[in-house]
Amino acid sequence: MLAGWREGTARRPWRISAKLLIISSVVTVIGFSAICVNVMLDMRHGEEALARQTLENLATTIEADISRNIEIYDLSLKAVASNMLLPEIGTVSKSIRQLILFDHATTARHFGAIQVFDADGKLTIDASTLDPLPENRADEEYFRVHRDNPNAGLFISRPMLFRGAYAIVLSRRVSDQDGGFMGVVAGSIRFSYFHELFERLNLDPQDTITVLKRDRTIMMRRPFDLDVIGKNLSDRQNWRADNLKEGGSFAGQGPVDATPRLYVRSGSTATPLFVVAGKPLGAVFELWQKEALRIGAVVLVLALFVLGSTAVLAREIGRRAKAENKLEEMATTDALTGLRNRRKFDSVIDVEWRRAMRQKTPVALLMIDADHFKAYNDTFGHQAGDQVLVGIAICISDSVRRAGDCPARYGGEEFAVLLPDTSEANAFKIAETIRCKVQGWSDDQASTTVSCGIASLVPAAGMDWSILVTAADKALYAAKAGGRNQSVVANIPKLSLVA
Ligand code: GH3
Ligand code: MG
Ligand code: MG
Repeated sequence: MLAGWREGTARRPWRISAKLLIISSVVTVIGFSAICVNVMLDMRHGEEALARQTLENLATTIEADISRNIEIYDLSLKAVASNMLLPEIGTVSKSIRQLILFDHATTARHFGAIQVFDADGKLTIDASTLDPLPENRADEEYFRVHRDNPNAGLFISRPMLFRGAYAIVLSRRVSDQDGGFMGVVAGSIRFSYFHELFERLNLDPQDTITVLKRDRTIMMRRPFDLDVIGKNLSDRQNWRADNLKEGGSFAGQGPVDATPRLYVRSGSTATPLFVVAGKPLGAVFELWQKEALRIGAVVLVLALFVLGSTAVLAREIGRRAKAENKLEEMATTDALTGLRNRRKFDSVIDVEWRRAMRQKTPVALLMIDADHFKAYNDTFGHQAGDQVLVGIAICISDSVRRAGDCPARYGGEEFAVLLPDTSEANAFKIAETIRCKVQGWSDDQASTTVSCGIASLVPAAGMDWSILVTAADKALYAAKAGGRNQSVVANIPKLSLVA
């Protein structure tokens, strides 16, 4: 009886282990890949943060240099504008006036000479000469701005050709005591200043530095391209005032070429010009990409190895499981008839008996024995007898078709058919079907008949299934005694008493 239990569970560990192996391998691979992707994304964020920090520092440094120079130059402009109000200016000689006005004026080489224009735009005083050539700047934007707006303060012009060199013009209004317009004092910062400033920095050729006015006009750019100087970017989504704020950044296309870059704006707030430093995304993530490829390749190889070995192992497990099933089938099948053997029958009856006991349903058993088989063997030989046994087995199999039914060769020329959840009357019908089938078949072939003993009962607690077998056996003897080729039902009430 224990054999059945062992058979029922023997195959399970293999099946579970194959599935478990596949699931755990796949979960492991997915888990490791997820961790790996997470780590690589973290690394990418780190690289980006580092690049952003570096670019912001660079932009802020450049901006500080530019605004310091503008401030110094503006101080000179302010001094000239206020000194112009001194009453002595009109009376002293030209050389003394130069000294008074431009005493503190910056004379660095990238700064153009400061000039003073009168209220009509006429050049009146020039720091570089005592006798300036006639010149009128009334049409220039910087002149008009100061003329029309007393509070323009320091005005920085768009980049322009100024005295033969590209420059930006810084200007201030000269007002009298009552705020009346007296003219404009202007000076220039040449592009050479920016070129020199950018050359001092150790930059990659693809890195960009863009100096912009607050209204998003490009004042200067590295690499230098005259076509973009003076271009206004306020209509560009990423460069608009509400997007690219102080210390802000974006990754995308710039105003000149199609190379996607990380652009970072300098952090200071109160300067007239600001700086945006850009680095190609390819360069920002170059190291990360190499590392990601290396780690990705290693993880891919490992994942393939794990999945490959899992596939091999799973196939091996499947092969073994198949072999086990085959072995089990062989161990539970009767070789001659293909029916289940006695060993299997015992385990099935044990299980079904207990199930019927739990569910309080009847379980029926047919014991079938070939009549006068010894004589048949003696007459036609053992091999012919074997063929008859196969024929009987086919007749039995053809007659029991329900899933739970269990036809088996019980031993020699004796067969047993277990019929779970079958009443005595139904069991009798099946027995008769078998008997008639055998008779019908043997009429043509072997003139063989079978006798059938039938027992059916609802097992009570504590009852052993051997009672059912004994009862069916007794009924079989009764069928033999009654003249063979017949089916006899066991007397169940008596059985209950026996039990
Ligand atoms: P009864 O009608 O009373 O059953 O008579 P019987 O001759 O069938 O009964 P008995 O038990 O005297 O003989 C059984 C015979 O069945 C003996 C044996 O030769 C034969 N037999 C048992 N197993 C096999 C088998 O595997 N192959 C063949 N050919 N014969 C078998
Ligand atoms: Mg017999
Ligand atoms: Mg017998």
